[in-house]
Amino acid sequence: MRKKVIAGNWKMNKVLKEAEQFVADTKDNIPSSDKVESVVCAPYPFLASLVDKAAGTDLKVAAQNMHYEDNGAFTGEVSPVMLKDLGVTYVVIGHSERRELFGENDDTVNKKVHAAFNHQLTPIVCVGETLEQRENNETMTLVENQVKQALAGLTDDQVKQTIVAYEPIWAIGTGKTATSEQANEVCTHIRNVVKEAFSADAAEAVRIQYGGSVKPANVDELLAQSDIDGALVGGASLEADSFLTLVEAG
Ligand code: 13P
Repeated sequence: MRKKVIAGNWKMNKVLKEAEQFVADTKDNIPSSDKVESVVCAPYPFLASLVDKAAGTDLKVAAQNMHYEDNGAFTGEVSPVMLKDLGVTYVVIGHSERRELFGENDDTVNKKVHAAFNHQLTPIVCVGETLEQRENNETMTLVENQVKQALAGLTDDQVKQTIVAYEPIWAIGTGKTATSEQANEVCTHIRNVVKEAFSADAAEAVRIQYGGSVKPANVDELLAQSDIDGALVGGASLEADSFLTLVEAG
């Protein structure tokens, strides 16, 4: 039985005080991590404080991106060494906003996934199609290629620890959720791709989240699907009450 993982991706929102207040408002009511993994993906400047404030609780802290090199002349970048040193435990890699707006591609995503494992960070690897690609029936091929390239070169053991987030771009921040059947169909395909590229054991263990307008009203139905092992949530993760409802559903 795969443990569900609910991750709130705050994107570029909140200031430090608000981020700290969120942790104060949620940390005592986060369900046990034996039952569900609860993660907040926060902007870099908040990470050190949030790790500190969430210490000893079941709330885990993720970065929303990182560079793949350990250190060096990369002005403005943040490395896996720095994240690990702060006590960050997860990192979002290849979010569609980074792919669309900041030149992230399958090659840099693959490098970052390897860098995450080199520094004991759990990668949450995002894949997903645009509306145009869906309308052209390219979803399955596109997602298959993204998954294969993102995970290329990993060991079976690493794949088992990976979280893949299927986020159809047309459903992000639009209020348009994929139906639970549409979401599950792609998540099942991703599991089959992992089985083909790695092993049946790896496919059975890898966690696959759905993301795109997940909210308290639709989370139960999405999580009830056979191949959906959690959610990556933007807008509905910003308020403490709403986030708690989502993690309770996990
Ligand atoms: P929304 O939940 O706001 O649609 O965002 C989804 C997302 O991009 C999470 O990474």
